[in-house]
Amino acid sequence: MADRSKADADAPGASDAGKVLIVEDNDLNMRLFCDVLEAFGIESLQTGSGPEAIKLARAHKPRLIIMDIQLADSSGIDITRALKADPELAPIPVLAVTAFAMKGDEKRIIEAGAEGYLSKPISVSSFMATVRRFLG
Ligand code: MN
Repeated sequence: MADRSKADADAPGASDAGKVLIVEDNDLNMRLFCDVLEAFGIESLQTGSGPEAIKLARAHKPRLIIMDIQLADSSGIDITRALKADPELAPIPVLAVTAFAMKGDEKRIIEAGAEGYLSKPISVSSFMATVRRFLG
């Protein structure tokens, strides 16, 4: 999936390092995450693919990765594990997003190395409160 982020040309000092990478295979959730972040002035990179997420993380060094745990092409838990196994990518915080039915998987998610998780359905206020906690 293409990088739909905006150009940084008019923002001196801004770089991809200030962006949040959203990994989500559901278009409606992707739009929600994207729109909410944008409303708070946070630029994002997007993909629905696990392997693509690793490539984007390596290329752009985002400041946070929002990771859907159930992707069409992979397990977000496996992708999180792969990110955390890479010394260059491991410091990037991963916020996992789980389906309500998978709430019991919180332990697996944390063991994979994710720094936090949210359960769907996502409320805008708790989503942004959590994102801001990670962005500091
Ligand atoms: Mn999904």
